[in-house]
Formats: sequence, C-alpha cells, structure tokens
Amino acid sequence: MGLMYDKKDIYSTLSQEELDKVDVYSKEYIDFLNSSKTERLCVDNAIKLLNENGFCDITNKKSLKAGDRVYFINKQKSIFATVIGQKDLIYGTNIIGSHIDSPRLDLKPMPLSENHDIAILKTQYYGGIKKYQWMSIPLAMYGVIFNEKGEKKNIAIGDTNDDTCFTIADLLPHLAKDQMKANANEFIDPEKMSIIIGNIKDKEAKDHKVKEAVLKILNKKYGIQEIDFARSEIELVPAFDAKFVGIDRSMIGGYGQDDRVCSYANLRSLIDLLKENQNFDKTVIAMIVDKEEIGSVGNTSMSSQAFDMFINILLQKTGSKADRLNVYYNSKMLSADVATAVDPDYDEVSDIQNSNILGCGVALEKYSGSGGKYNSSDANAEFMSEIMQIFDKNKVMYQIGTLGKIEKGGGGTIAYILADKGVDVVDCGTAVLAMHSPYEVASKFDVYMTYLSYKAFFQS
Ligand code: MN
Ligand code: MN
Repeated sequence: MGLMYDKKDIYSTLSQEELDKVDVYSKEYIDFLNSSKTERLCVDNAIKLLNENGFCDITNKKSLKAGDRVYFINKQKSIFATVIGQKDLIYGTNIIGSHIDSPRLDLKPMPLSENHDIAILKTQYYGGIKKYQWMSIPLAMYGVIFNEKGEKKNIAIGDTNDDTCFTIADLLPHLAKDQMKANANEFIDPEKMSIIIGNIKDKEAKDHKVKEAVLKILNKKYGIQEIDFARSEIELVPAFDAKFVGIDRSMIGGYGQDDRVCSYANLRSLIDLLKENQNFDKTVIAMIVDKEEIGSVGNTSMSSQAFDMFINILLQKTGSKADRLNVYYNSKMLSADVATAVDPDYDEVSDIQNSNILGCGVALEKYSGSGGKYNSSDANAEFMSEIMQIFDKNKVMYQIGTLGKIEKGGGGTIAYILADKGVDVVDCGTAVLAMHSPYEVASKFDVYMTYLSYKAFFQS
C-alpha cells in the first residue's frame, strides 16, 4: 500500500479485459434494475436466477449436505439463498445481506376519489424522500390486489413504451407564490401527492362520473371493486429506465439502486462463484430483505425472527448439533448497502478524507449512524483488519468512507441487527449520488468492484 494512503480510481487501474467485463456486468445490472422496480419483482427475479443455477426451495429438501443450494422465501418479499459448506454450521457462516425495498409512493388503503373531473389516487410516501422530486415525473404502477374471492391479480402499468403511465401534477410556478415561501420540508403537502388516473366521465353514472369510469376500467381489466384496494399493495415508481450516464458512459443512472445495486451483486457473486466450481468451506448465505427503508420493522424485514427460523431449519436439515447463538457468534457478514459519494456541488456536507469518491472503489464503512455514533453498528478493528486483508489479497479496490460530516444528518443499514445477534458485521457497498431520488447515480466501476468484493468475501 505504501507509507502514505493514496486513493486510486478504478478505471486507470484495470486492464482492457477487465474493463470489458465492467461493461458486460453493467448492462446485465441495468436490465435487472429495469425489471425489478419493487421488492416483489426483485424476489421473483431472484428466484428465477437461483432456479436457473441449481437452487431449489428449502421446503423441498428433507436433509441438506455440503454443496446443496437452497433458498427460503419469506412471504414473497424477502429471500435467503444458501449454499451448504463443507464444515458444520458451528464454524459460522459467511453472510451478505442487502435490501430490496426502495423509497417510493404507496397507494393509501382507500385511495380513489374524484375532484373537478379528475380521478385521483391518494398516496403515502414510503421511506425517506425529498417529496418535490416525485412531482411531475412519469410514474409506473406495480403491485398486487385481491378480489373478494381471494384471487390475486398482478398489476404492472407504465413501463413499456406504448403503455400509459401516471403522474402527480405539481403546482404551476405562476400560481405558486405562497407555496414557494414554505421551506423545502413543508412546501409539498404529502396529502396533495395524488396520482392522476383518469379524466373521462361515465355516461351512465349519476355523480362521481370519472371515478366510476375508472372503476369500470379496473373491473374489466382485473375483476376488482373499490373495496379491493384495501387488500392490495400498490406502489408508484419512476416510469423511466436505468441507463448509462455521462459522455464517457462511466456511470449508471436509475431508480432503486439503493439497494438493488448491492442486492444484484449479492446474488450474482454467489451464482458466478458456483459457475466457477467454487466449493465453500463454510456455509454462505445471500439474503435480500424488505422494509429497510422504514427502519427494518415488520415480518419481511431483517428484524423479523424469520431469519432465526431459517437458521433453525438449516441446523435441523444439516443434522448439526450446534446452538443457533453459537452459529451467529462465529459468523461474519457484509452489510451490503449503498454509501454516499461526494457530490461535486455539495462537498461541504462531506469530510473528504473520510468519504467515498465516485469511481474509486467499493465503499467500506466502519460505521454509519449519526452524531455520537448513535444507532450505528461500529465494526471492530479486528474485523476491519480481516476484511481489508481479504480484499487486498483478491485485488478488490475499496475506499474507507463515512456517511458525511458528523452532525449533518445520518442514516443506518441492517448491520446492527445482525451485530446484535453476535455476528461480526461491516457495511460494504456502492457509493451513489442523489440517494433516495427517482434517479440515483453510481459509477459502473464501483458497481463492478462491489460485485468483486462480495465474491472475495463469500470465498473467505
Ligand atoms: Mn439502503
Ligand atoms: Mn436507503
């Protein structure tokens, strides 16, 4: 490394052959992003990818032996994929955990109304967003809805070229004099973030003519009635595609990179290692979980005891006599979540020498949290040392970052949840610009290096 630490950019360091691999990987990642705009779609695509590579549902296996590839689906919104190692579970597991929920707008349980001949759907934002970024952009609608017989209908509208889409109409600047006086936190009232869904009146209806016309279309298309919204989960997400950004095509822009960039790398690194005939000494687990953006609460989040149950199933099916707590204590984990990259226009919020520079490697973050390290999982020096050695040995380019200046804000990941169980955990993921916006930006080199770092970790 040299006496003085020197941050290098990935592009100048990689060979042409490696640079070509970056482009191939990036394109596959972009395809994944475009087809995985919700947590349910991420799980569907993960299952597809896993099934194609010799994995099966753990419930189909009576017992498990070294080399077996299985996954556990937690309520369609989270999945734990595992390859059984040569050693007993008592020696611990290598876990990479990422999340697949992203900030978005959810429909309220009873969303449909009509005002001045426009049918609207009321929304409630999910996760930490700057509300104004979601106004006046094309939105796609995804989700599931059940009819009174309990039949499930999948909804996917707005993402193909000839498809219709949705939007929230922001107030025109000409009449926004009062609105513009409010501070940025308040000037968009979340109760006024309604999706425009229709404008044609039903000729036979007495009143609420537009609302009725919309309901008739929905009924024809999905066989649903208004009350069925109460048994639905419908999300509005940006209706534009991820693509390369910059005249040099060095970056990737797209919705939901937090944290699907790490989730894709998580799955791909495991699958590619298997394709390279890698045998695992210790059991490895790639898990993608839900509900991180709202504080990891609920039965599909990392905090759910579904993960403990999964470990119990592994213990039982491998015939291990180990105690679950011992397994945790001997396990290590990368908390695979995005980090912040220094923004050229707002570098004052970052402590530069403790920050991630776009294109300079996967971000290794000893801790997140805020202020006096509140709510952070602070990786110990021993574990930092172990991970840095793994990365150095495997030529993984990484940088040491923190979220930003100490009292400028803060944020967390799922790291603390596993750390609380006794697992050694450190945050490791891709640095992005404009996190939580409808169009997050990452360096394609960092995206690729994230994948290489996970490969190195799974093998360790
Ligand atoms: Mn995240
Ligand atoms: Mn986030």
